[in-house]
Amino acid sequence: MSGASLERGIHALKEQIDAPTATFFSACVHCGMCAEACLFFTETRDPKYTPIHKLEPLRKVWHQEYTFWGKLGRALGLTRPVTDEELTEWETLVYDSCTMCGRCSMVCPVGNDIAYMIRKLREGMAAAGHAPPGLIGATRRAITIGSPMGVKLPALQAQIRHMEEETGLTIPVDVDGAEYLCLLSSMEIMNFPEYLGAIARIFRQANVSWTLSSEAFEATNSGIQIGVSEIARELVNRIVTAAEKLKVKAVISPECGHAYMAIRWEGPNLIGRPFGFKVVHILEVLDQLRAGGRLRTTGMETQRLTYHDPCQISRRGGVVQQPRNLLNLVAEDFVEMPDTGTMNWCCGAGGGVSSNERADELRLKVFNRKKAQLDAIGAEGLVSACSNCRIHLEDGLEEYHMDIPVLSLTETIAEHLADRESHEGKQE
Ligand code: SF4
Ligand code: SF4
Repeated sequence: MSGASLERGIHALKEQIDAPTATFFSACVHCGMCAEACLFFTETRDPKYTPIHKLEPLRKVWHQEYTFWGKLGRALGLTRPVTDEELTEWETLVYDSCTMCGRCSMVCPVGNDIAYMIRKLREGMAAAGHAPPGLIGATRRAITIGSPMGVKLPALQAQIRHMEEETGLTIPVDVDGAEYLCLLSSMEIMNFPEYLGAIARIFRQANVSWTLSSEAFEATNSGIQIGVSEIARELVNRIVTAAEKLKVKAVISPECGHAYMAIRWEGPNLIGRPFGFKVVHILEVLDQLRAGGRLRTTGMETQRLTYHDPCQISRRGGVVQQPRNLLNLVAEDFVEMPDTGTMNWCCGAGGGVSSNERADELRLKVFNRKKAQLDAIGAEGLVSACSNCRIHLEDGLEEYHMDIPVLSLTETIAEHLADRESHEGKQE
């Protein structure tokens, strides 16, 4: 990196220091409690994976640019500015060893939201040209094709036909005035199309009016993962435009963790106005149907099932009780793993880590934490509600030679629908 581009890099970091970030750095008492909350530290015991340490370039810029002692030290030549070598080294800490799971933020005694600061640092790092190639590629595909995995409309249409044949139901597309617009993640479209069949079955039984959009079906937001707000904004805008055009009452975020955070919590801030519709997670919708007596199930899973809380849905999204209500409907031996709900451990692959091949070895190493949770209760099946988690959970279980199936909660509910037999195989 040339002197001029390094200067731009430092400027990019400086630009990210807002009031919360400055307050968090001033408030940090260096207690180290965040370390024991982060699986990248607990599973490696390497101090470089301490959450607050991952923020060091940003802290350094804050100190040197915005504090009296930092400015004085710089003027006297007592402190060095951030170097290009540091940014290169920190790229792996910021992108490969942080899933932005927010567990560290939960334990900080002074209330520092470390995950928020990691996001700010990613914004600066991306602007300074320090982002992993895998994430850059995914983001480019999201902008040019509409999906980070390069999934185009014909691929979705093929999966729609496939699921229509399998379920005997018509899957609605571009229906004006439907109550719900359902989003899908590209991982669901390509790896788990059964999710689409599952919602078709459930919504048919519950008589829910819903549609997909041919113009905005992708839920994931790689702009959030890489840390580029303009891209995140554009991806949110595509959904908002489609939802408002179809005049739906609500948009359903699918079984994808960060997609929910992106559209529900970040979305209105990104576009600078409230949406003209609600955003709900599929588990919230299913639980409302359950509570209203519109979800009629039969039979129970008999194996010992447990639930992996996707970080962005449970901890950062607040959807904690709903999956438990739903599991109790269909699982006779549902057991919580230790450290569950909002304090569950991350699978190790969120926040763009799974799109970053460079991080593969590390994410599998830290899966040891999930293994310990599962071993502690003798789990025979693992249910979750995020397709990214599912892929990584399957990877991790294989790596550790654990023969435990990973199930989607929505699909599991659909398997137990009371009227499933009555319509299967018959075209509506
Ligand atoms: S957000 Fe999660 S992965 Fe990132 S530093 Fe905190 S605990 Fe670790
Ligand atoms: S837990 Fe909070 S106060 Fe303690 S070191 Fe981490 S960020 Fe600083």
